[in-house]
Amino acid sequence: MSAEQTKGKIKKVRQHPSQNEGLIFEKSSPGKKGYKLPPLDVPAADAAKLLGASERKYPLGSCTMKYNARVNEAVARIAGLANAHPYQPEKMTQGALRILKLLSDYLLEITGMEAITLQPAAGAHGEMTGILLIRAYLESKGNPRKKILIPDSAHGTNPATAAICGYTVENLKSNSAGMVDVSALAAQMNEDVAGIMLTNPNTLGIFEEEIHKIADILHEKGGLLYMDGANMNALVGKTRPGDFGVDVMHLNLHKTFSTPHGGGGPGSGPVACKKQLEPFLPVPVVVTKPDGSLGFNYDRPKAIGRVRMFYGNFGMHVRALAYIMANGYDGLRLTTEDAVLNANYIRKKLEDVYEVPYKTPSMHEVILSHHRQARQGVKTGDIAKRLIDYGFHPYTTAFPLIVPDHGAMMIEPTESESKEEMDQFIDAMRAIAEEAQTEPEIILKAPHTTRVSRLDEVTAARKPVLRWKPQAKSEKA
Ligand SMILES: *Cc1c(COP(=O)(O)O)cnc(C)c1O
Repeated sequence: MSAEQTKGKIKKVRQHPSQNEGLIFEKSSPGKKGYKLPPLDVPAADAAKLLGASERKYPLGSCTMKYNARVNEAVARIAGLANAHPYQPEKMTQGALRILKLLSDYLLEITGMEAITLQPAAGAHGEMTGILLIRAYLESKGNPRKKILIPDSAHGTNPATAAICGYTVENLKSNSAGMVDVSALAAQMNEDVAGIMLTNPNTLGIFEEEIHKIADILHEKGGLLYMDGANMNALVGKTRPGDFGVDVMHLNLHKTFSTPHGGGGPGSGPVACKKQLEPFLPVPVVVTKPDGSLGFNYDRPKAIGRVRMFYGNFGMHVRALAYIMANGYDGLRLTTEDAVLNANYIRKKLEDVYEVPYKTPSMHEVILSHHRQARQGVKTGDIAKRLIDYGFHPYTTAFPLIVPDHGAMMIEPTESESKEEMDQFIDAMRAIAEEAQTEPEIILKAPHTTRVSRLDEVTAARKPVLRWKPQAKSEKA
């Protein structure tokens, strides 16, 4: 295709204003100065509205990129909370302690578990804390064990966690429905196995229907069931891990409970467990004292220690609590229903043009594969790059790994997306499927609308250029 034809084609897609924007250094020129504005003396206006910028759908599967409600931010900025200091005496921080206690109680109610720590700072950090609890518990019984079983659909952090906690990892095969093969598990389970790390719904977006049987098989031989709760957006208000046999699990407040992800703020990965693991939870824990006031208990001789300074990322706890209280029970349940509905809507609207590698119904996310497009040489990574031209952030590519030919396209709309936005996404995906048939080269060279087009990925990995350098004058023209 000629450059002219490509241009014509690109005009039809909706280009986001930020897509071809220069860096701040490039927009500058010698002699320009920066100014700090004085405080506002007029009512504030919404800059996003003035500029006509809109939010961009962000369908990253496994990440639950939901809308972070403004009420969270308003509450987190209340001066008494924002300026609280961890060394303030308990007497002066009863409100902050109440927040930790209330959030703990709500999360226990949501998960059906019996004890909790809010300390871990991320999902992976929660995994490590949870597996250390299992380790401490089994060691206290004089039965440390050596292995952790992990399904082949697992998130990469699971085997990494097990290894870092000193266990060897044994792979557990999934069946053709995309679930743990229970008879294979029964054959693999023995007294060397400390536990299994299971994501539910798993990374194929599929609910492990035989989870109670899995729990029974483990418990019979003295093992423990760890649930990676990163996908709780499919379960909240519907079913509780504590009720289907889970012994310990983590939550990602920055996924399910709408606190900012990564660059937007620190994470939070609370770990909830059953009674027998409670003595090993990190210090300190929030307790109600005899006089009815709240305080921290540091006197916990069996505790695994501390996994994070002070009490974890308190600002995230405030935001998650705001989210839970603003939604209430009915709101949270509806959130779950909408998240599952949205994923299935996208699946239904795309399944005639993209392969659905596992036919079991989807929960909060849908996994498609590039199987049909690959015949034209178009792979998941190419389709993802072409989506950028259509104004969408790419989905998660090539994960989970058990989708054949590393062809996974993992799409999680979450409950936050409107039908209108999903329809635009579906139109874009269908248009790309059409292009794969008629003019695959436009996909293979995408993105075309961004400032930097497709990189040579090998060179980018081997010789990364990590610093912006001013261009020489002659090159600039
Ligand atoms: C996101 C995720 C994790 C890791 O959580 P972080 O907060 O990114 O450390 C673990 N497991 C699954 C299934 C996830 O989706």
